[in-house]
Amino acid sequence: MLRSLKACRNCRTLTDEKKCPNCNSSSLSSMWKGVAIIISVESEMAKKLNIQKPGIYAVYIE
Ligand SMILES: [Zn+2]
Repeated sequence: MLRSLKACRNCRTLTDEKKCPNCNSSSLSSMWKGVAIIISVESEMAKKLNIQKPGIYAVYIE
């Protein structure tokens, strides 16, 4: 379930680990909204969210 995932405050990656698998940050939040599935880092969404590689990201993190 996506709802059980946490979002990295540093890079927005959604994960069920205790640390972010992307940037190794332990600053994770369970308070997030919206899912951005990034297929291409050239997309407008990726640029807007400042995402560097394809994956599943949170759009808004508290
Ligand atoms: Zn991260």
